[in-house]
Order: sequence, then C-alpha cells, then structure tokens
Amino acid sequence: MRPLIAAVDLSALRHNHALAKRCAPGRQAFAVVKANAYGHGVREVVASLRGEADGFAVASLEEAAEVRALDDQARVLLLEGCFEPAEYPLAAQLGLDLVVQGPEQAEALLASAPCRPLNVWLKLDSGMHRLGFSPERVRHWHARLRGAAQVAELNLISHFACADQRGHSLNEVQLESFLELLDLEFDQRSLANSAAVLALPAAHMDWIRPGIMLYGASPFADLDARELGLKPVMTLSAQLIAVRDIEKGESVGYGATWEADRPSRIGTVSCGYADGYPRHAPSGTPVLVNGRRVPLVGRVSMDMLAVDLSDLPEARVGDSVELWGAGLSVDELAAACGTLGYELLTRVTARVPRRYLA
Ligand SMILES: *Cc1c(COP(=O)(O)O)cnc(C)c1O
Repeated sequence: MRPLIAAVDLSALRHNHALAKRCAPGRQAFAVVKANAYGHGVREVVASLRGEADGFAVASLEEAAEVRALDDQARVLLLEGCFEPAEYPLAAQLGLDLVVQGPEQAEALLASAPCRPLNVWLKLDSGMHRLGFSPERVRHWHARLRGAAQVAELNLISHFACADQRGHSLNEVQLESFLELLDLEFDQRSLANSAAVLALPAAHMDWIRPGIMLYGASPFADLDARELGLKPVMTLSAQLIAVRDIEKGESVGYGATWEADRPSRIGTVSCGYADGYPRHAPSGTPVLVNGRRVPLVGRVSMDMLAVDLSDLPEARVGDSVELWGAGLSVDELAAACGTLGYELLTRVTARVPRRYLA
C-alpha cells in the first residue's frame, strides 16, 4: 500500500465545534460541511457531530441530500440557495433551509409548489458584492415573502468579506447594514463565519456558521489555530521511500531547479501534487521527518516530493513524514506557499485514503 494517508481526528473536530458553541453562548450553529466537509469526509464529520450540531450548511442540493441521509433531525442550510426551479420541491422534501440570494431565486420560489413550506434565509448583500439583495430589495422581498405559502420561517443572513482581518473597516459597515434591517420582523438571523465567531461577538445573532475553525485551522493570518484553542483535525502523513547522497553541484527533481551547495542527503517522500500538496511550494518549505523539520527541495512532482535530509543523517527509508497536521500547522504550510489552509484542506484528492480516529 502506498504510504500516504490523511488521518482525521474526530475528537479534535468535536472539541473545535464545542469551542465555537462556547464562543457564542445560547446561539445555535450551522456546522459548515460544504466541499466534503472541507476535504475531511462529510459522512464521518456529520456522523461525528450528529446530536451535537444544531444544523449543517452546504453549497448544493446534492451535498444537502447526503447530509440529510445521515441526520434527519438537524437543520440543513443551502448557502447559495437553489440553482434551478426543479430544486425547490426537492429542497422541501428534504426539509432544507434555503438561502434566497437574488430575484430569480425569489421568483422561482414563489412560482413553486413545495410539499411543505421552507425556512427561507433572505440574503443581504452587506458589502461583499457576491450574492444577496441590497437593503432596499431585502425590504421589498421581505414584504413579498412574508406570509407566502412557500415560506415557513423568514430569516436574514449575510456574509463578511474581511472578517479575517480584525479591525477592517468593512466589518463595521457590514454589521451596521445588517443591524439596520432588524426593524423588519425576521424569525432568525445569521451573520458570523469562523472569524466573526472568534472575534466579532456583536455579529453572533441567532445562528453562527463556523466552517474552517471546526477543522482546526485559523481564519486569521496573524493568529494561529493553537493560540485560538483549536486542535488540528487532519494530519497528512507519508513516508520516505528513497534516500540518496548527492554531490555538491548536483540537482534534484524536474527542471533541475534546486542545486546542492554542499554534499547532501536527499529523501524522496510519497506525496505529490496529485494528492493535493501544492505544486508551487518553494524550496525551503518545511516538512516534518520523524517529527523534525527539514526543507523541501526542488519541484513537487505528481506523486512525490524531495526533502534535504543533510541535517538528519539518521533518517531512513520507511521513516514517517508529516506534510501538515498535528506537528506542522496547515496554516504555516499555506503561508509558505502563498495560499490558505482552506485551499490545502479542500484540495486533498480522492486517492488519499482518509483514516478516522474516533
Ligand atoms: C463557507 C461559508 C461559511 C464558513 O466560513 P468559514 O470562514 O470557513 O468559517 C459561512 N458562511 C457562508 C455563507 C459560507 O459560504
């Protein structure tokens, strides 16, 4: 068997979920499990939070159907709403909560005949300018949807563009825009993603929507997950599959981009970009071999990457390698590669077996 696995620590997941709930006492939480639970495996994540999570949030009807099959009690929110008219009756059958983010969706909902009324979350575009209605149009649609036969609860939702940058002026602007609509009668309100759960209590409202924090990564560039009390959930582990000595001046990998400036010991690791490791990780990116940091060298290949073991002469074929996880935070690796923990976690490919620790 190829020595590469993504170990998923479900007790860490539950710890992080409990921490999110403690940040917003008395509020309910949609655990965000879109994109296969940020790459961790939606079945196991939902099963692990079943009974604890008040609800789950997903990006499509297909994802929602999978969650509903695992949990027939929790609320399941479609974050972008329905993509075509045929989805409204299906959403009702599944008992979903539905975002309505534009006039096409609102009209399609009113033209549909669902088997039961749906909980509708009117989306306010409070400043991100991606989805949602202007404040005036929220008022308009509030009037039209309130009391409509297709609508059970009528709720308000919006999303921050810069909550990861604490103190960014847009956060205040967006919060104000949300608060100004609360003279309207809404059954439930929701605004906070992970960053706002952790840093913006005024945005907690009735339902928080933690995503990345559940998986033990930080939503902030300047605060790491450990400082926030979060525990890493996924550890991507490989092995050394070859070790060789090269001379000063010899190169490693495709394009011969890295050249040894001293006699060097090179280790080859069973993980590459086809597993989701970032191909653009530069030489020097940290990798853990037997728990010790060594630098990546040369280009990342499809199935392998290379590290410089010169300062770890005892390293042998078969030794354990951690690409990220419990010993090396996914956020640190992401920063070294110019990306985010979100991207690295969601990009772990299907060929990497997930192993679950209860
Ligand atoms: C993905 C998503 C979230 C979760 O965001 P995190 O930054 O991962 O906490 C919350 N709300 C909406 C609308 C989303 O699309």
